[in-house]
Amino acid sequence: MSKTLYEVYALRYATHASRHASENFIFSDFHDDVLMPLDFFMWAIKGDGRVIVVDTGFDAETAKKRQRTYLQSPVEMLRDVGIDPNAVSDVVITHMHYDHCGNLMAFPNARFHIQDDEMAYCTGRCMGHEALRKPFEVKDVINAIRCLYEGRLVFHKGSSKLADGIFLHQVGGHTKGLQVVTVPTARGGIVLASDAAHYWKNIRERSPFPIVVDVEGMLEAHARIESLADGPYHIIPGHDPKVLEVFPRLPCNSNIALLHVHPVFPGQEKIQDVILQSLAITTQ
Ligand SMILES: [Zn+2]
Repeated sequence: MSKTLYEVYALRYATHASRHASENFIFSDFHDDVLMPLDFFMWAIKGDGRVIVVDTGFDAETAKKRQRTYLQSPVEMLRDVGIDPNAVSDVVITHMHYDHCGNLMAFPNARFHIQDDEMAYCTGRCMGHEALRKPFEVKDVINAIRCLYEGRLVFHKGSSKLADGIFLHQVGGHTKGLQVVTVPTARGGIVLASDAAHYWKNIRERSPFPIVVDVEGMLEAHARIESLADGPYHIIPGHDPKVLEVFPRLPCNSNIALLHVHPVFPGQEKIQDVILQSLAITTQ
């Protein structure tokens, strides 16, 4: 049983507003193809003197190339939660898609935790297929290899312990070596699901996001994540704009949500005010 309870932050650094619902589900209803924006996040975990960053986002150059709206550098956003990127010692790479590993070199003193299967995937024969290669940037893969040769890649296989109470779990589906992170917080155990579920709706309706290497693996991942989390809102999807709607945000940066605090649903805004007032004191 872990003694440490952690603070967990979701940092929204970019968005893609013109995306449609039909692009977000493998079994979509095209008669009702409404806009369904997609946000881009990086996550930070703090507790007991430890800092763990989960994913590194992408940079402004990649945002321009892929026509995504860049709100702020995710590396710079870390400073709003009291984290100096130069001092970060551990970064989890959930997977090697461009929106999750684009700023490796901005963490010069970090070790990067990655699954064996993910590194093999992004440097192996699958990348010969354009459809699988599309969400990767070769510069990111080269930077990961650079980190490997600097002795800064830490390989994991399956499930492993990262820190007191914090575990990595490989799950199938989206890529070959995607890993999710489980973290104990004051409101229970949460799962940073990354792209095992882009939206809450993907997991709730068991309808995978279309970027998928193995549909069966992704459906198994949905079940696994549910078994690892203490409730539906303890699962944090990788790209859902609703994350910023239901969790309280930092007073100094409205693109940062506090995931260790209970979610607040429409009609409960008064409770959110109370939470924010108490946070204004604790986050000083
Ligand atoms: Zn992603």
